[in-house]
Amino acid sequence: MPTYEEARSIILQHVTLMPAERVDLPDSLGRVLAEDVVAPWDLPSFSNSAMDGYAVRAADCHNSPTLPVIDFVPAGGHASKALAPGTAIKIMTGAPIPEGCDSVVPIERAEESDSNVRIIEPVTLHQHVRFAGEDVHTGETILEAGTLVRPYEINMLASCGQRQVTVVRRPRIAIVATGDELVPLGEIPASGQIVNSNVYSLAAAITGLGAVPLVVGIARDNLESHREKLAEGLKADVLVTSAGVSVGDRDFVRKVLVELGVEIIFWKVKVRPGKSLAFGIYQGKPVFALPGNPVSTMITFDEFVAPALLKMMGHIHPVKRLFPAVLETELRKKHGNSQLVRVRLQYSDGKYLARSAGKQDSGRLRTSVLANAIAVLPPDRECFAAGEEIQVHLLDGSTGMTTL
Ligand code: AMP
Ligand code: MG
Repeated sequence: MPTYEEARSIILQHVTLMPAERVDLPDSLGRVLAEDVVAPWDLPSFSNSAMDGYAVRAADCHNSPTLPVIDFVPAGGHASKALAPGTAIKIMTGAPIPEGCDSVVPIERAEESDSNVRIIEPVTLHQHVRFAGEDVHTGETILEAGTLVRPYEINMLASCGQRQVTVVRRPRIAIVATGDELVPLGEIPASGQIVNSNVYSLAAAITGLGAVPLVVGIARDNLESHREKLAEGLKADVLVTSAGVSVGDRDFVRKVLVELGVEIIFWKVKVRPGKSLAFGIYQGKPVFALPGNPVSTMITFDEFVAPALLKMMGHIHPVKRLFPAVLETELRKKHGNSQLVRVRLQYSDGKYLARSAGKQDSGRLRTSVLANAIAVLPPDRECFAAGEEIQVHLLDGSTGMTTL
């Protein structure tokens, strides 16, 4: 049985990068570039003013001269004449620098009256001029393959005229829930029934990562139904199942996956919650059989499935970095497994403080909604005292909770 860390590295060793596709620039947000992007032109593409002011020659501006203003050039326009020595041209931010000019005096540093301007401060050569190509040169690689596209990259790509970019494809993730007790959202569960909530949280988590969820439906607790739904799920790029992966009499997921040709790489991990996780490979594609308790389902998704999906989507650091937090209250666990404890983090006096977010049983959903981080407690210890430093990572989407 692999440890928590081993299980994740086994999974990451088995998953490979998705192929590339061309997408419209707005659709590239959050995706990873699959090719280097080369600048087709200089940025700026023409020398222009960084300020609203007066285009001048620095050499004309010693001893607070008064210069005639011979022209006006707005952004998007051009000066109608070159700058003659001893003159100034009024210029707006982003307007092309007129021929003959080498510096710009901001409006606030000049006094204009009767078509003349007095330059009241010394001028440094090239001040407030943005020179053609000073940001990016034609032919230069502006973004390398492997770059995550954020709004900043979108601006760079748009500035360079890239209407489409080549990015790593989003994997389609089939979700199969299992269980006779499940009813769809919208139905009132009868006695003994529960809402198929895992499908909703899994789909949300998959969407949140930038992958595409495909809800296959519910496999009922018989072999026929499992065969049908799991076979359907295996057509996607990744299959994620919920429940039916433990040792119960009606836990058919592993048996049917094997029957359908999935090679089970491991079943069970030395971690709680999430011990009964199974991981397999089908025609090179990853298959995750997650435990059914919603808390375990979500934690195993975050810890084991999410890094795999991020790696498939080209992310260079698919595993969340742990960082230290100081325990405010004691935490206890059993010896032998890593324990993933749902905690509430608070930033205070230059450090993170962590306290348990509530009862840690895997049936307690409330503890999950109160938590903003997971503490990863090592297998070989049982008690962690208040004041001790532990390792944590943030739960996705939690940065707006409390004073983080
Ligand atoms: P199992 O692994 O099938 O024994 O399921 C473990 C627990 O998870 C049981 O309490 C199930 O009722 C619950 N469970 C299974 N599937 C889901 C689901 N799709 N949504 C919410 N809870 C579930
Ligand atoms: Mg079940």
